[in-house]
Amino acid sequence: MEMNFSSERAYALAQDAVDSLRHYRSLFHLPKGKKGGEVIYFCGNSLGLQPRTVEEALLRELKHWREEAVEGHFRGEMPWMYYHKFLQPQSARLTGAKPEEVVVMNTLTTNLHLMMVSFYRPEGRRRKILVEGGAFPSDQYAVESQLRFHGIDPEEGMVELLPREGEHCLRTEDILRRIEELGEELALVLLGGVNYYTGQFFDLEAITRAAHAQGAVAGFDLAHAVGNVPLRLHDWDVDFAVWCSYKYLNAGPGGPSGVFVHERHGDRPDLPRFAGWWGYEEESRFLMRKGFKPMRGAAGWQLSNAQILSFAAHKAGLDIFDEAGMDALRQKSLRLTGYLEFLLNRLNEQSRRFEIITPARPEERGCQLSLLALEQGRALYDYLTENDVVCDWREPNVIRVAPVPLYNSFEDVWRFVDVLATIA
Ligand SMILES: *Cc1c(COP(=O)(O)O)cnc(C)c1O
Repeated sequence: MEMNFSSERAYALAQDAVDSLRHYRSLFHLPKGKKGGEVIYFCGNSLGLQPRTVEEALLRELKHWREEAVEGHFRGEMPWMYYHKFLQPQSARLTGAKPEEVVVMNTLTTNLHLMMVSFYRPEGRRRKILVEGGAFPSDQYAVESQLRFHGIDPEEGMVELLPREGEHCLRTEDILRRIEELGEELALVLLGGVNYYTGQFFDLEAITRAAHAQGAVAGFDLAHAVGNVPLRLHDWDVDFAVWCSYKYLNAGPGGPSGVFVHERHGDRPDLPRFAGWWGYEEESRFLMRKGFKPMRGAAGWQLSNAQILSFAAHKAGLDIFDEAGMDALRQKSLRLTGYLEFLLNRLNEQSRRFEIITPARPEERGCQLSLLALEQGRALYDYLTENDVVCDWREPNVIRVAPVPLYNSFEDVWRFVDVLATIA
């Protein structure tokens, strides 16, 4: 990829002018800043912007409810009874899965637990779970409590991967070596696809292969990966994955979660699971018989009937992704984040205020760059906020900035670094 960037504003504007995805920005509501203009929104890794089509999608379901009441389950273009199916093809395209390998249900941490119930099956010496050191807190608590649930001391059962001394990210070779070392003590590898703090995108295929070579299961939390980086979960042979929809997928606060279960596990009624009626074989669900018979595929892990309003908002966001296409988004993302990195490095040459801890190799990251502030990080962050930049602060001293290819522009990136440059 050519990376002959320039720090001139005119260059950024020219890039926007030839960006084939530039019209997608107008499909979203951008908040207004204190100064009246649009904010520079680099927080899509935390909460994606509202697609303009969401309101209409919600109003449509409210109308359906108002006019059809209980019959809404069976009538109309998208009867509620089958609503999860309307999200399957798009979720599958985003994750590189077959439609029956994915389902949207519940929320992320709930699904992480449901997956671990089925796929973390400690037996004999094989009981350890390999995680990233400093994993997202919810994931840590989920793992810790699952271990306790099986009567295993988390101190013993949870193995954390830590970067080498003086480094911030994990080296693939170190991850693979650790998996090999754990050998037959390893039950499950559970990593974020993209680490929420450093922005590192792990080599999920190599990690899955290494886990399988030791007879362990490979599962991933894709909260920061889905809609951000290209995924091929089926081909990579991943066992299971979970994600949320309110970050890069723009489904709104508390939006529903997605789940992937590889097809080789999809037709195993013998797998232990926590079951509910919506995972029951569709043809006979309403006979309300005793004895749980799961549907084939990921849908067999569903518990409850669909949360229609949040699914409708999610669908509106997915429609946009489907139209833009993940390949085109990734191509733009590589350039957009590359440009941000270029401008930041240039600024740092003048006076060194931060270190970019996200991997420099584009294939090892998504759109986010994490800046480790070398001094007065909080003041730097507050200054950005005062100047209508929305990004986020992670203790102890990291500022995460995520230029999202769907709605951010090269000009946003240029303006952001321009604000940074003016700090006294
Ligand atoms: C955002 C995020 C979560 C949030 O979990 P919820 O159950 O949706 O509140 C969990 N894990 C990771 C890695 C995340 O990035």
